[in-house]
Amino acid sequence: MKKWNLIVDVARCHNSNNCFLSVADEYQGNEHPGYSAAMPPHGHRWIDVKKKERGQAPIVDVAYLPTMCMHCDDAPCIAAAENNAIRKRQDGIVIIDPEKAVGQKHLIDACPYGAIWWNDEKQLPQHWIFDAHLLDAGWKEPRCVQSCPTGALRSVLIEDSEMELLKSDEGLAELHPEHGTRPRVHYKNLYLYQKCFIGGTVVVTNNGVEDCLEGAMAVLHQGGEKLGEAPSDEFGEFKFDALEPSSGAYRVEILHPEYESLSIDVELEDSIYTGVHTLTSKK
Ligand code: SF4
Repeated sequence: MKKWNLIVDVARCHNSNNCFLSVADEYQGNEHPGYSAAMPPHGHRWIDVKKKERGQAPIVDVAYLPTMCMHCDDAPCIAAAENNAIRKRQDGIVIIDPEKAVGQKHLIDACPYGAIWWNDEKQLPQHWIFDAHLLDAGWKEPRCVQSCPTGALRSVLIEDSEMELLKSDEGLAELHPEHGTRPRVHYKNLYLYQKCFIGGTVVVTNNGVEDCLEGAMAVLHQGGEKLGEAPSDEFGEFKFDALEPSSGAYRVEILHPEYESLSIDVELEDSIYTGVHTLTSKK
């Protein structure tokens, strides 16, 4: 049985918010009987793009994370719903019944992803339904996928066994696996949002002028173990990424055959720019 999955590539999301707008256009003021009541004009973000800034100048980046109902296979919202108000379709899509769910405000707290929104006027919990009404009418993908200009969103209708292979081939990860809900939304390059980096700049002084040094080798150690190497680029910058926040003490050694080596000690809390490091000549 083929089922729907959504793949979100954090590295490709540039915060255009076209996904959010496509949802607003599809659902605001539009009733889809049996699937979804109309979304209110204000306050709901059924697809919500979150933002995370990392680092300090000059090594700074920003990651954008589209979030939505994860269409979990072990969905706590389904367990919490009274009167079978939430159901799992055979194709994996979770639907909050727009009639049976009336008055069930407790469902908002049942979703660990915060993906259920309360419609005050209709007294109704609501979420993004994967555009199930369009897929049932023959669409090949939901509107958020169709409208993303950078290809950050991809929907796939495949067997679960094929999805497992795709997850391992592409290094896909769950958002908050600790919730244990087996989501059908999978993330690529999630480290850009959840992990942190150590960066720095390597320079040398020539006749009193500071020059960026390309090709120095930065080597990262923790607890006496070598974790990796990163050459400095044309701006003299090195970066070790995908490190766990608040993961303790690290040492960065900077090596170059023509210069004395140098060590930097870092107590890592969050992404950090360690500054400008000047190497001195061995001559
Ligand atoms: S993300 Fe929340 S609303 Fe969606 S299926 Fe999972 S528990 Fe239910």
